[in-house]
Amino acid sequence: MKTISHWIGGKPVEGVSGNFGPVYNPATGAQEKQVAFASVDEVDAAVGAAREAFRTWGTSSLAKRTSVLFKYRELVDAHREEIARLITAEHGKVHSDALGEVARGLEIIELACGIPEKLKGELSTQVSTRVDVAAIRQSLGVVAGITPFNFPAMVPMWMFPLAIACGNTFVLKPSEKVPGAAFKLAELAAEAGLPDGVLNVVNGDKVAVDAILEHPDIAAVSFVGSTPIARYIHTTGTANGKRVQALGGAKNHMLVLPDADLDLAADSAINAAYGSAGERCMAISVVVAVGETADPLIGKIKERADKLRIGPGDDPASEMGPLITKVHRDKVASYVTGAAAQGADVVVDGTGYTVEGYEDGHWIGVSLLDRVTPEMDAYRDEIFGPVLSVVRVDTYDEAIALMNNSPWGNGTAIFTRDGGAARRFQMEVEAGMVGVNVPIPVPVGYHSFGGWKDSLFGDHHIYGNDGVHFYTRGKVVTTRWPDPSDGGINLGFPSNH
Ligand code: NAD
Repeated sequence: MKTISHWIGGKPVEGVSGNFGPVYNPATGAQEKQVAFASVDEVDAAVGAAREAFRTWGTSSLAKRTSVLFKYRELVDAHREEIARLITAEHGKVHSDALGEVARGLEIIELACGIPEKLKGELSTQVSTRVDVAAIRQSLGVVAGITPFNFPAMVPMWMFPLAIACGNTFVLKPSEKVPGAAFKLAELAAEAGLPDGVLNVVNGDKVAVDAILEHPDIAAVSFVGSTPIARYIHTTGTANGKRVQALGGAKNHMLVLPDADLDLAADSAINAAYGSAGERCMAISVVVAVGETADPLIGKIKERADKLRIGPGDDPASEMGPLITKVHRDKVASYVTGAAAQGADVVVDGTGYTVEGYEDGHWIGVSLLDRVTPEMDAYRDEIFGPVLSVVRVDTYDEAIALMNNSPWGNGTAIFTRDGGAARRFQMEVEAGMVGVNVPIPVPVGYHSFGGWKDSLFGDHHIYGNDGVHFYTRGKVVTTRWPDPSDGGINLGFPSNH
């Protein structure tokens, strides 16, 4: 069986801890690989390699860094297909969707290629007589990233290209469920000429994560994953003196006003709720239908849902693949049966779905629940599967109160033809990313991505300008090249003249 090892100091390093985790193909349900789980000592070795590499990378020229990044961009671009196939084999998402995540990751490498523009700093001349002030930003040192299963390539690329462009060195701990793509990304970085130790990958579970959180030589941690773990990472990391950005889970609502284009709204609900089998932090999981919108909208969503083709991600005919594990599939199904027991109408029931020839795969069909209320488990929890709930409300005010009462605030969307209503919504809704007639408003690479409330712990969103800020620290230099007349004793607080 193929074993995925760590990548430390520019080369593969077999796991010596003796602990391994299974890596499944979700379409067949078979374990096809195993992944090494790092011990505390192996994490320490990766941090040591990163610390050593920082001695030269931290002072390398911007020209050197960008020449590597431009080469890296070309290599990742050239290996899109291979990376996407690795993603599909371990995650299950369909090939076109996997290609899409590689493309979104490339956006951040492209942003990193332009790092000289972002690190220009500021200069004020003659703030006092013969005194200039320069504000510069410098790298932090060794930084770490801990990533979730649902974007095996994109989320790591949200982090390390920008971190290393800023002059840091990096230790990545990918999800143990989908380690293949991150390993490939590290191999390609070496091929692009990234010096050994600048990018390291340690695979593993909580042991590796805790070793990162406690390591004195790690200055900052970027995390993306579920809310309870994000909260834990933020609390523990900051208690250990680290800068932490921890992006958590979500329950994204899509508000549909009576004047909306209902065909567009139905298409969007389908794409955003069932794309990647609902395993996206920006998936729409709740449609809030105002007034008389509900019945026609549900009819249109059902009509489209019934036609979706669900099957193996490497079959070009498939529009949706399997879920990540059997345990997760069963949990998702339990929300559908639970909602029925709690009084919701199950308009489309995806439980019990299977694919001929792939009977052991982690299959579930799409589900559509109507008359869901805020008390039901299907509303309260992040299901992270292809289950779309419809909550019926009478007014816009009722809708916004419902949405703002959610503990999460990642993405949200409004569907309307009324510019005034859309503007009011974008000002009033408590979420970090808002779409107007756009169901999955993931910001482009040169803006930043992040939610509010329980969807993000820490002060910085990820990538974009916030990313540059997170991976650097400020320094202000006040300079005078003195004239003989500038001398003399003065114990007063410095004043400008
Ligand atoms: P997860 O929280 O279970 O795991 C994320 C990472 O944390 C993994 O690397 C895992 O090994 C590690 N981890 C898991 N349990 C841990 C523990 N007890 N102690 C220390 N480390 C632990 O998340 P997941 O299931 O891999 O990913 C799905 C979740 O991620 C969903 O909640 C989804 O909404 C969220 N997500 C959020 C965003 C965002 O940008 N806000 C993006 C993608 C995914």
